Amino acid sequence: MDHKLSPELEDLRRTVEQFAHDVVAPKIGDFYERHEFPYEIVREMGRMGLFGLPFPEEYGGMGGDYLALGIALEELARVDSSVAITLEAGVSLGAMPIHLFGTEEQKRTWLPRLCAGEMLGAFGLTEPDGGSDAGATRTTARLDETTGEWVINGTKCFITNSGTDITGLVTVTAVTGRKPDGGPRISAIIVPSGTPGFTVAAPYSKVGWNASDTRELSFSDVRVPAANLLGEEGRGYAQFLRILDEGRIAIAALATGLAQGCVDESVAYAKERHAFGRPIGANQAVQFKIADMEMKAHTARLAWRDAASRLVAGEPFKKEAALAKLYSSTVAVDNARDATQIHGGYGFMNEYPVARMWRDSKILEIGEGTSEVQRMLIARELGLVS
Ligand SMILES: Cc1cc2nc3c(=O)[nH]c(=O)nc-3n(C[C@H](O)[C@H](O)[C@H](O)COP(=O)(O)OP(=O)(O)OC[C@H]3O[C@@H](n4cnc5c(N)ncnc54)[C@H](O)[C@@H]3O)c2cc1C
Repeated sequence: MDHKLSPELEDLRRTVEQFAHDVVAPKIGDFYERHEFPYEIVREMGRMGLFGLPFPEEYGGMGGDYLALGIALEELARVDSSVAITLEAGVSLGAMPIHLFGTEEQKRTWLPRLCAGEMLGAFGLTEPDGGSDAGATRTTARLDETTGEWVINGTKCFITNSGTDITGLVTVTAVTGRKPDGGPRISAIIVPSGTPGFTVAAPYSKVGWNASDTRELSFSDVRVPAANLLGEEGRGYAQFLRILDEGRIAIAALATGLAQGCVDESVAYAKERHAFGRPIGANQAVQFKIADMEMKAHTARLAWRDAASRLVAGEPFKKEAALAKLYSSTVAVDNARDATQIHGGYGFMNEYPVARMWRDSKILEIGEGTSEVQRMLIARELGLVS
């Protein structure tokens, strides 16, 4: 692995860095305070091609890969995680399942608008009775042979991007039958927004990611055409494991960005804030804290880029993705706590970006597989079976 980004990726990094600094940073705090989705910023991200980064040009994508997506996510999250998670979920959970498992017709129907950021897609896996244990899915889909439609019933919770004005679809996992051993056959089905019986609840009141959209969804005899099945019937479980493996690299890049953003803010503050007649950054205790924060952000970056490089090269990456997600989310929480401490009382004021980073960091240890689930995966990859 080359430690340098290619000239194209470095250009992308600089472009997103500039956008985050010039467009996102000055505006996002107000959206966050109002718990409001920043449509204009997301539209601009769409115009820049960010939602199409890892998709082929023939479907409206930019022809890049997961490294490119990670670079963009890291730079956005250095400044704000709400817009970063909107991009992450739109690409990794909304569009990627259609790209990886969709029919040609499904790709042509959905991908161009998803890649342009004119439409957002969501992925509904988690249910009120279980997220980590996704095999325990209770939502059902029955094929009505007379009408040729899936009839879906159930509830999904905590679904990102599922209720914005530009949400076009949610791919849901549902039990579509039983295996000979009695276990569930899980399938993934595309449900367009506005389908009768598909209800989107009001946004949750969240601790963080307050300028992103998260909702509970309910399905009551929701009918969609049989052709909305995504991939093979009964293969939904294997499909979403693949989606989550990839998504972990994206979350790791996002977490690295948050960890780096904490360093950026802390260095600036430590130089300008004075106590006892000198900048607080002249104290070794503060310097060492920031040095450790930089070490953690740097190492997290190496971890997610390593996992992404393996994915792009077509090599196994499951363990590396779990390691990157576990490590980067841990250090994002560490750095957010330390950055807040360096800011003293101001770190507890929402007008300071580090306060937002502190609130946004915790979910990184929970979403797309908790830290415990990452440890389970790593242990399994090491051959340990419980
Ligand atoms: C803001 C937000 C956005 C989200 N977006 C989406 C989305 O777009 N789509 C989607 O499908 N989901 C989404 N989620 C759901 C998220 O992925 C789940 O919350 C997460 O996977 C954990 O599931 P759970 O909440 O059911 O916790 P549980 O699975 O109930 O876990 C509770 C605790 O028990 C631990 N635990 C469980 N099993 C074990 C075990 N075997 N060994 C040790 N510890 C264990 C867990 O690690 C955790 O600490 C989102 C969540 C949030 C908060």
